[in-house]
Amino acid sequence: ATPTAVMVATGVGASQGVLIKGGQALESAHKVDCIVFDKTGTLTIGKPVVVNTRLLKNMVLREFYDYVAAAEDNSEHPLAKAIVEHAKKLHSEENHIWPEARDFISVPGHGVKANISDNILIVGNKSFMLSSSIDIPLEALEILTEEEEKAQTAIIVAMDQEVVGIISVSDPIKPNANDVISYLKSMNVESIMVTGDNWGTANAIGKEVGIEKIIAEAKPEQKAEKLSGKTVAMVGDGINDSPALVSADVGLAIGAGTDVAIEAADIVLMKSNLEDVVTAIDLSRKTFFRIR
Ligand code: ADP
Ligand code: MG
Repeated sequence: ATPTAVMVATGVGASQGVLIKGGQALESAHKVDCIVFDKTGTLTIGKPVVVNTRLLKNMVLREFYDYVAAAEDNSEHPLAKAIVEHAKKLHSEENHIWPEARDFISVPGHGVKANISDNILIVGNKSFMLSSSIDIPLEALEILTEEEEKAQTAIIVAMDQEVVGIISVSDPIKPNANDVISYLKSMNVESIMVTGDNWGTANAIGKEVGIEKIIAEAKPEQKAEKLSGKTVAMVGDGINDSPALVSADVGLAIGAGTDVAIEAADIVLMKSNLEDVVTAIDLSRKTFFRIR
């Protein structure tokens, strides 16, 4: 393609809210035959809400949430925000103050830990419980499976090394996600979903959006692993997607995502519309197939 053609295409992209950072990004996009999608905030809306709580011990719901919110109020994670929002609703006063959290730590991809009123609270996924030497009773395991099959993320709450409750959080898929995935298939582009979330939930979401290839319980470095023989695009929104956005042949960031992801990407979807993944590839194909 001539420099003029590239300039024109970049301009057309910009006018449609597809920000292409340079000619190389535009050129690479026409060769893409595989797209790795982040789950949370990319395929899903990214605003999880608490939909269910199961208490395993004789506890008052509001007290349970006071403890969990006290810990999660220190975390920036969308799941943490969902929990704190839910806990607030259990109180009538505007500015309820949680008990004090001491020794707070956040373990990326796992959960949070804090000392609340001399109780050690651990909130997170199964592997976080295992690495904290907490036994998950059969009853809890059954609840986890049940919730995961409903495409919900189940968060385990342990107090003083004992599982006391499970919080289910739902983050629905974007309304057009399914259409975009099947359209990409018609363009001979394969889709893969990658997530730090558990396998059960990931498989259920995959089924909803029509993606068969799934990589779950992935650490940020794993998100960035290269698929051999493919020209790979990565679509993501989070801080933990940025290594993958950089190492992919083409990194596409959701405009509503974090600054770190937008910085790391080659292409930014300013309207945060998944359909613009197709717009970007189309534009590149038109520019680079026509002229050769
Ligand atoms: P994703 O790739 O979906 O953004 P993350 O890697 O951020 O997922 O987190 C993976 C999993 O770790 C979450 O699904 C959740 O089970 C657990 N987790 C992470 N942060 C928290 C938190 N603040 N509170 C509870 N659980 C958490
Ligand atoms: Mg995300």
